[in-house]
Amino acid sequence: MAKIFCIANQKGGVGKTTTTVNLAAGLAKVGQRVLLVDLDPQGNATMGSGIDKRELELSVYDVLLESATISEAGVRTEKCGYTVLGANRELAGAEVELVELERRDQRLKNALAVVDAEYDFVLIDCPPSLSMLTLNGLCAAHGVIVPMQCEYFALEGLTDLVNTIKQVHANLNRDLKIIGLLRVMFDPRITLQQQVSEQLKAHFGDKVFNAVIPRNVRLAEAPSYGLPGVVFDPSAKGSVAFVEFARELVHRAPAM
Ligand code: ADP
Ligand code: MG
Repeated sequence: MAKIFCIANQKGGVGKTTTTVNLAAGLAKVGQRVLLVDLDPQGNATMGSGIDKRELELSVYDVLLESATISEAGVRTEKCGYTVLGANRELAGAEVELVELERRDQRLKNALAVVDAEYDFVLIDCPPSLSMLTLNGLCAAHGVIVPMQCEYFALEGLTDLVNTIKQVHANLNRDLKIIGLLRVMFDPRITLQQQVSEQLKAHFGDKVFNAVIPRNVRLAEAPSYGLPGVVFDPSAKGSVAFVEFARELVHRAPAM
């Protein structure tokens, strides 16, 4: 059975997409079969996997509206080693179109059920809002991976997400839980970041992943080459950290 995880945080620019593409590439590198689902109309995870969002014939939009299956709409990228269910601007319209439909929050879950045996991990890159798109992600997932920067308001920002997850758990998806918090863009030279990191561990214990993703310019450069950092420059510090994170996740997965 595939482990299905949302990469979510209601803040923009915290590293969701960077985490999704690099974790996908890292998991592929350690031998896992991975499907990346881009649920953000910006299509950054799609482009960052080397797939031109403007040239997608079928996308996650068609899957949500049940006019295509994941097998039909998924695009395999050999360079990155995983399959992408891509997104583009069209997806923004799905929000409105879904409102009319029955079981509108279960569309992705139903589509994933069909390809469950084909993958070890499904990673869903969520938009930075609680929309019908994010809700589809949360209803389909076993859990949420939360990338976060160790900044002053980090813990406060988490409260909203934790409440959302609790509500979805109570009403829509009894499986849903926080898989873990991933410290990203980390700079150990900044005392405040170390302090917040300690606070996180004190509050969330082993829900904080051991792997820490450093701030690393190679990770930021990679998308312009249409590659995850892990593929673009495997020896960069950030890439090494993401592969380590992938290993940690594989190790923890049986208990999730
Ligand atoms: P989100 O998907 O949450 O909006 P992104 O993954 O797009 O966030 O990241 C926001 C910006 O930060 C991007 O420009 C990205 O390249 C950069 N970035 C993300 N993680 C790192 C990192 N570890 N080191 C350096 N830059 C990073
Ligand atoms: Mg993003």
